[in-house]
Amino acid sequence: MAKRNPAKAKRAAAHPDRPGEECKAAPGTFVPLVKRGACEGKDDCVEVCPYDVFEVRRIDDSDFAKLSLMGKVKSMVHGRRTAYTPNAAACRACGLCVVACPEKAITLVRAEAAS
Ligand code: SF4
Ligand code: SF4
Repeated sequence: MAKRNPAKAKRAAAHPDRPGEECKAAPGTFVPLVKRGACEGKDDCVEVCPYDVFEVRRIDDSDFAKLSLMGKVKSMVHGRRTAYTPNAAACRACGLCVVACPEKAITLVRAEAAS
């Protein structure tokens, strides 16, 4: 079960750069893309997403292999943890994760562009 942090979600909701605050897109219209080399597995996305889109876990070996040398070092420093989006189809494009991520690792893209 996701570890929600309502105080953090409230702060993200008030963030001036938050995209999509007026937009309750139909589920599956947009999906969050996580920039693997930037993510430090800090869990903020898990804590603010109202739809349990994210899971932070050990990076897959195939994704680790694609990182740059610096990216690999950074990943190891952070215990090889990174965010995946097993429930991306539930995303409503609220934008909370985009502004909550301290590494600016998340962007919202149209679902058809992500596949
Ligand atoms: S995507 Fe951002 S908020 Fe989510 S785990 Fe990675 S660094 Fe943390
Ligand atoms: S934009 Fe999508 S993935 Fe991000 S917090 Fe909102 S519903 Fe969750």
